[in-house]
Amino acid sequence: MQFETTPEQDLIRQTVREFAEKNVRPIAAKADQEKRWPAENIPKMAELGLLGLNTDPALGGAGADMVSYAIAIEELSRVCASHGVIASVNNSLYLWPVTTFGTDAQKQKFATPYAQGKKLGAYGLSEPVAGSDPAGGQSTAQKKGDVYVLNGQKNFITNGGHADTVIVFCKTDPAQRHKGMSALLVEKGMPGFTWSEPEHKVGIRAAHSTQLYFDNVEVPKENLLGKEGDGFKIAMKTLDGGRIGIAAQALGIAQACLEESVAYAKEREQFGKPIADFQAIQFKLADMAMRIQASRLLTYQAAALKDAGKSYGPAAAMAKCFAGDTAMWAATECVQIHGGNGYTTDYAAERHFRDAKITQIYEGTNEIQRVVVGGALLKGDLR
Ligand SMILES: Cc1cc2nc3c(=O)[nH]c(=O)nc-3n(C[C@H](O)[C@H](O)[C@H](O)COP(=O)(O)OP(=O)(O)OC[C@H]3O[C@@H](n4cnc5c(N)ncnc54)[C@H](O)[C@@H]3O)c2cc1C
Repeated sequence: MQFETTPEQDLIRQTVREFAEKNVRPIAAKADQEKRWPAENIPKMAELGLLGLNTDPALGGAGADMVSYAIAIEELSRVCASHGVIASVNNSLYLWPVTTFGTDAQKQKFATPYAQGKKLGAYGLSEPVAGSDPAGGQSTAQKKGDVYVLNGQKNFITNGGHADTVIVFCKTDPAQRHKGMSALLVEKGMPGFTWSEPEHKVGIRAAHSTQLYFDNVEVPKENLLGKEGDGFKIAMKTLDGGRIGIAAQALGIAQACLEESVAYAKEREQFGKPIADFQAIQFKLADMAMRIQASRLLTYQAAALKDAGKSYGPAAAMAKCFAGDTAMWAATECVQIHGGNGYTTDYAAERHFRDAKITQIYEGTNEIQRVVVGGALLKGDLR
């Protein structure tokens, strides 16, 4: 068993950290306050390969392994969780299913420019009536000649409004429930496809999410990803990998909380000495460090399993759940260590506190992760 990252993975951490400190740190707080999409950093992330990290170089990607990807998302999120999720969605929720289930022609059209970061992708599964139970979705696509006629609505779609293509999960055979779901590549500009203003969110406010509306959108049959009826399988397998990205996002937020807590505890004095001298504060910092390291090991292990071609779904669920809970807990402690200052927008603690919460909710709530882990245990897939 090895616990060391490779020199290449270390180089990715150093490169992304330098990038994030130089380009992301200066705008992170303001972009959050203004709920502003960080348009200036999208081409810079693309140039560094961060929008197509795992994609084959033959398709315009960086060809990095999954552990490197987790490290990159962790480092982006350590500075700004919004940047972390923008990259994560394009990589794991969009490019992975397109490159895994797409035809050669689809890969050329729907992967290459996206891996190069010239275009952005999104993943449209959730609906107002269907979140944890996506098979309950009501969006439908009826085959008529050479097109699918798509009708329905999606909500909370990250990168929505900015994405050039969205993978839309819909029912091509509603009577079959999840077995009647299919995945369509729906392009911006298709008549009948519109979206809302960005939703008003508690955190990750520089990363926009929107509702999507489909009103008799004619999607060419060439845009069917996989086969008819494969949609549910594609959606679930995609989330297995996506959860490694969210675990990494949570890890980055938690790491930021630890670093800022240590710095503040050393600087802030009460009772004539730095609050870091109080054992109650040291215990908080020690617990943060322990839980963060455990999250990191779970996250990298899930990524390494995926790299090795082994089963990684339950490991990814475990990592996402544990790291998400850790991020929320660490952010709460970070605010506490900052005292009243932690409750103001003058310090980053409150931004981390708001950002951390989403990691317990999206790509399957942490209750659903526990359902996945529990199910795997009972089936004997986990020890
Ligand atoms: C900012 C943001 C970005 C998002 N981005 C995307 C995106 O890009 N694409 C996309 O498709 N979706 C996206 N989502 C949607 C997200 O994945 C869902 O919000 C999430 O899966 C939960 O679904 P829900 O909100 O409908 O909650 P519900 O499913 O209504 O759940 C409500 C509560 O009930 C609990 N619950 C439900 N079922 C069970 C059960 N069986 N056992 C125990 N507890 C249960 C849940 O854990 C939760 O606590 C995003 C959401 C947000 C907020």
